[in-house]
Amino acid sequence: MRWRAGETVVLRDIWRGRVWAAKPLIVVADTPALTALWMMPGAVSKLPALADGTPVRIPVREWSFYDKTWRDGGALFLIPPGAAHAVWAMWSPGHTHVQSWYINLQEPLRRTRLGWDTMDQVLDITVAPDLTAWAWKDEQEFTEAVAAGVWSGGQACAIRSEGERAAARALAGAPPFRDGWERWTPDPMWPIPMLPVGWDVVE
Ligand code: MG
Repeated sequence: MRWRAGETVVLRDIWRGRVWAAKPLIVVADTPALTALWMMPGAVSKLPALADGTPVRIPVREWSFYDKTWRDGGALFLIPPGAAHAVWAMWSPGHTHVQSWYINLQEPLRRTRLGWDTMDQVLDITVAPDLTAWAWKDEQEFTEAVAAGVWSGGQACAIRSEGERAAARALAGAPPFRDGWERWTPDPMWPIPMLPVGWDVVE
């Protein structure tokens, strides 16, 4: 089964069999070549928090959720088939231009009844809008997570290698970079997506 453009799906992070985070997104493309999902300004995600409500990014034993509204420009998530990362095109407020590219390291997508499941791997990469330079982001948090045993040394190496490969693709202008996505615009008729019933249930 494939989703049609304009349908609402949920992209979830799953940690130890439970929902860690859930984002409502609009499907832009669901083809064998690419998954493209739109994070629309105003959409409200469920993100993890400690019992006292403090947001948390490194997986912990117990967590609850807080509501996080996506502000400013939207983000288009571009995920090649089987990739352990997503390329985010981050737009300016008002959707005038892509302000930056972002590589989000995450587990390969798994299709679900409501959309897709993955797990964010904390480490990210920022890429200049003209694709001439890149830098690690949240490297310190990633080091802390590995020290806390969230990922093994071997897993950490694999996550870093995936990031280096994806960054090299960005600088080389390989797909999905330089595919014209920076000229893409959302359908103005799309409503702000909301999390579907059952977003918190893992089958
Ligand atoms: Mg990330």
